[in-house]
Amino acid sequence: MIESRGEVDAVVVGAGFAGLYAHHRLRQLGLTLQGYEAAGNVGGTWWWNRYPGARCDVESMDYCYSFSPELEQEWIWSERYATQPEILRYVDHVAARFDLRRDIRFETRVTAATWDEAAQRWRVTTDRGDQVSAQFCIMAVGCLSAVKQPEVNGIDTFRGLTVHTGRWPHEGVDFTGLRVGVIGTGSSGVQSIPLIAQQAAHVTVFQRTPNFTMPAKNAPLDPEAVKARKAQYREHRQAMRESRAGVVVPMPEESALRVDDDARRSRFEAAWESGTLYGMVSAYNDLLVDRDANDTAAKFVRSRIRDIVDDPEVADRLSPRNHPFGTKRPCLDTDYYSTYNRDNVMLVDVRSTPIVEITPTGIRTATDEYVLDAIVFATGFDAMTGPLLGPDITGAGGVALGDKWAAGPRTYLGIMTAGFPNLFTITGPGSPSVLVNMLVAIEQHVDWVADCIAYLRDRNLASIDATVDAEDAWVDHVNTVANRTLFPAADSWYMGANVPGKPRVFMPYIGGLPHYTEVCDTVAANEYQGFTLTPSTPRKPERSAPHT
Ligand SMILES: Cc1cc2nc3c(=O)[nH]c(=O)nc-3n(C[C@H](O)[C@H](O)[C@H](O)COP(=O)(O)OP(=O)(O)OC[C@H]3O[C@@H](n4cnc5c(N)ncnc54)[C@H](O)[C@@H]3O)c2cc1C
Repeated sequence: MIESRGEVDAVVVGAGFAGLYAHHRLRQLGLTLQGYEAAGNVGGTWWWNRYPGARCDVESMDYCYSFSPELEQEWIWSERYATQPEILRYVDHVAARFDLRRDIRFETRVTAATWDEAAQRWRVTTDRGDQVSAQFCIMAVGCLSAVKQPEVNGIDTFRGLTVHTGRWPHEGVDFTGLRVGVIGTGSSGVQSIPLIAQQAAHVTVFQRTPNFTMPAKNAPLDPEAVKARKAQYREHRQAMRESRAGVVVPMPEESALRVDDDARRSRFEAAWESGTLYGMVSAYNDLLVDRDANDTAAKFVRSRIRDIVDDPEVADRLSPRNHPFGTKRPCLDTDYYSTYNRDNVMLVDVRSTPIVEITPTGIRTATDEYVLDAIVFATGFDAMTGPLLGPDITGAGGVALGDKWAAGPRTYLGIMTAGFPNLFTITGPGSPSVLVNMLVAIEQHVDWVADCIAYLRDRNLASIDATVDAEDAWVDHVNTVANRTLFPAADSWYMGANVPGKPRVFMPYIGGLPHYTEVCDTVAANEYQGFTLTPSTPRKPERSAPHT
């Protein structure tokens, strides 16, 4: 029997950084809330991704909430790049400190949300039979939460252990003495392979596309540096918000093509040694827009790979050539390339010798068979749209979100999609999201949504919906800006290229945080220009109090 959960002002789907902050802000407005989270607890990404080596690649002191000056003063990060357990401890602390769990039902997946036009409300259903009616539905479902399994025949026949990096067992995995295969060399593969190799008897890495990765130079944080940052945290946060990618990095105004080879090499060397994701990418102002400029950075990284990896053939296979530097999410690593100097690590290029099938005893490629005890799928995510298209979302006029987005996502500002009133997508497609420090993007979105809801409630407005014209113009703008860059030249998950059949559309907005934030603020200041606002009509209450 379906359990009725009554009615609330807002449903919040997801309890990662975005969902939790949404609870905090919306509760401050006095809204009644119902949260749902498929995981067993708070943390989102950091609850699911427990593989060895999982850590942030934006510096810990920047990759955390800024909304509470007290919180940022009291929390002490131990490392420059915090590990998954430390980040999860932080999220736990925040949830407890601000009492954010109380409205959340865990281990509960939202399966459907349907807009009831007459009531001007969302009817939300879960896999545990809950039904709740809400004026607002906040989709804080994450950009990287729908895991992507490899498309290989025979997975179910394998007699050993299989594990996906994005669904890592909580009790951990002991690879001691095992022959391990790892499929995938994106961020999760790059972070986990060095640690798996230290433990396992043997590791075979199956690589389709090598990626550019740079040393993280991770280290314990210097207490004096932490003190200095904390003394200026507020100013630093403001600088982060005003920076293009939500992290403060120097933005040189020079072209990589207007300097001589020595100058360029020493700039790249400094960027490489800086141990930051954005250091190399923004070493010159044209690396992401001019192929020749980009090639200078790509060549530099390839030369570094040759320096580190002993076997020139392996170094060559690890060297990316098919996509411009930085156009697939670059990685930060600890000892990734040098791991291939170990005797117990082997690299298999599955572009030239594709995987044919997984067998009961291992992996068979076009030319060889590899006997394995365990297979790790580091195959990433159905990014950005995957989590939004997981539930059946039906908007005005019975239109399904999946049908509306059949040719790719269409949003206004990445926050709303026309025809789905009062449904907000935190860091949705069409917003800077995965191209920037996501904590900055999340806070900016949640603040915008909370202010919007406050505006509606103050004026007794029932709903807000993006106009098709505003959405079309925004989608055009997102595409125009992307097409000025080299990003569309890569078969990346930004483009949906890692998921067979997914439309090839550059999903995030690459125009930078400051411009994007200014547009969002201007829209709000102009009384939600580009949106249709509908007044409330008096209605009878539907049900009793919400479940808490
Ligand atoms: C390994 C890894 C490292 C990363 N490192 C960085 C980094 O250094 N810097 C950075 O900026 N970003 C990083 N990211 C991106 C990261 O996803 C974001 O920084 C951030 O954690 C996203 O928070 P979120 O709340 O938006 O989404 P998530 O943390 O993904 O949380 C969304 C939650 O929604 C839940 N959910 C989804 N659909 C449903 C449903 N239908 N019903 C119920 N619950 C649902 C999911 O279970 C999930 O727990 C990393 C991602 C990964 C995978």
